[in-house]
Amino acid sequence: MVVELYCRHSCPLREITIEIKDHDRQLIEMLVTHGGEFKCVLCRKPLVIHWVMGPTEHEQYEEQHARMSVNYQIERQRQIALTGFGSVSLACMHDALPAVSK
Ligand SMILES: [Zn+2]
Repeated sequence: MVVELYCRHSCPLREITIEIKDHDRQLIEMLVTHGGEFKCVLCRKPLVIHWVMGPTEHEQYEEQHARMSVNYQIERQRQIALTGFGSVSLACMHDALPAVSK
């Protein structure tokens, strides 16, 4: 399981992503024992959960965002070469793999 958490307090930490191995199903018991929440590693106040994903779902999410980032960078370089500016439309942020040239 992968959990992304956010510290909403006056604290330099913004987000933290943790990977949890809960093979022995101890997570819930440990959270209850320790107050039922994840604490910020910097300010020790409770963190807010952004999302929770299973390992397969998280891998697909990471791969999708990697493809989108590559498509954005390719389009940005293309626009800079064509116009001298790096403005791109949001349409280039699709998650299909770029075409491979032969
Ligand atoms: Zn904090």
